[in-house]
Amino acid sequence: MATSNVVSAAYIVSAVFFVLSLAGLSKHESAKEGNAFGVTGMVIALGATIWLTLSRSPHALSTLLLIALAMAIGAAIGLWRARKVEMTQMPELVAMLHSFVGLAAVLVGINSHLVVGDTSDTIHSVEVFLGVFIGAVTLTGSIVAFLKLSARIKSTPLMLPARHWLNLAALVVSALLLGWFIQSHSIVPLLLMTAIALAFGWHLVASIGGGDMPVVVSMLNSYSGWAAAAAGFMLGNDLLIVTGALVGASGAILSYIMCKAMNRSFVSVIAGGFGQTVVVGEDKDYGEHREVTAEGVAELLRDASSVIITPGYGMAVAQAQYPVAELTKRLRDRGVDVRFGIHPVAGRLPGHMNVLLAEAKVPYDIVLEMDEVNDDFPSTDVVLVIGANDTVNPAAAEDPTSPIAGMPVLQVWNAKDVIVFKRSMATGYAGVQNPLFFRENSQMLFGDAKDRVTDILTAL
Ligand code: NDP
Repeated sequence: MATSNVVSAAYIVSAVFFVLSLAGLSKHESAKEGNAFGVTGMVIALGATIWLTLSRSPHALSTLLLIALAMAIGAAIGLWRARKVEMTQMPELVAMLHSFVGLAAVLVGINSHLVVGDTSDTIHSVEVFLGVFIGAVTLTGSIVAFLKLSARIKSTPLMLPARHWLNLAALVVSALLLGWFIQSHSIVPLLLMTAIALAFGWHLVASIGGGDMPVVVSMLNSYSGWAAAAAGFMLGNDLLIVTGALVGASGAILSYIMCKAMNRSFVSVIAGGFGQTVVVGEDKDYGEHREVTAEGVAELLRDASSVIITPGYGMAVAQAQYPVAELTKRLRDRGVDVRFGIHPVAGRLPGHMNVLLAEAKVPYDIVLEMDEVNDDFPSTDVVLVIGANDTVNPAAAEDPTSPIAGMPVLQVWNAKDVIVFKRSMATGYAGVQNPLFFRENSQMLFGDAKDRVTDILTAL
């Protein structure tokens, strides 16, 4: 009794740390503290759970050894991956980790049914059923997201005929199986539903296309939280319920924010409703593009009094944030007004660009959100588009037939001069051609973004 009281108290303290962690992570300045709070909460939670388990186990020593073994294997894999992973691979790693939460919920659910066995406890049966359902959808959905983000499969949406009916049928059949499961407590409907939910999760994410992937990633984040909360119900673990709900709710809020940023309807995105009219690589003639040299850009910057830098995924690939930070400092020392305009879905992860710029010690106060700079482009001398493509595509604002039509973008084309840093004329993540490259005030600076920014620094 005393042990469980102490553990409950420890769980409350952990939950408070997790709330503080989320609060900290919502701002640049406090993100490091937020991480530290999260780690502290997790250490307390793990310690308390291990203690509780040992105090209840008739074979405490062998239980401890098993836990230690599992933790050592998990920690070794975790450390190896965390050391090896490139910043650009973070989204796919996160997607992969979400799939583990889904798998855990499926295993906990099936195990919980086998252990509790033939009970007439309807509430427990519903918990198990829902937990396994959410877990299975999260598992395969996250695997598809991982494959798409790591470019192992194409990011274009899978368009099966009658796909909405297929999804609906999966939901209806699962609901019927729930009725059978509650009545019979047989494992057969549970396993049948698991198979359907695995296929449903796979299909749901497979049918969501390129530009809508940011929403999918945050949505799966949310699902993984609900899967953890469901596992908490099945195991009777309050902390898991609270933590799962925190992750589920914050993921849902993030998905909503992402949808607003992309001007998409949440329901349409998760139903795979967008992107079906995508005409990738259309044969439209946009005219000729112009090229510029690093020296030419240095010349332009020398005469500029205001500069906005709009970074994108290419800056992350090239790891160009360090020379970009150096260039910013040099220009500011000369009295040039330099600011950054960050699109909400730039890069491959919410906040991707902010993290890179903070890493390179760019002052927070000149890193602005899209809405804060969009009106300032007409009065800006030079815009440096560093490895961004979809997030600066005028087609989104001007061409209603474009697959990304309606997505708010950084209106860089309104500035006096626009320099686009990229290696080729290739399209961005959404696979849509960018008319910006062919505008009269645009010039292309080809090559690796890091090399080119370094060349400009040399020329300056
Ligand atoms: P994009 O992915 O549209 O374009 C990046 C550009 O960077 C490419 O056109 C590429 O051109 C260029 N590039 C790549 N490597 C280098 C390099 N070493 N040096 C210079 N340039 C390079 O980037 P954006 O950030 O503008 O847009 C993000 C896209 O990703 C959006 O479509 C968004 O929906 C999607 N997305 C965002 C997520 C998020 O949470 N933020 C998650 C999942 C997807 P080239 O090959 O010619 O060099």
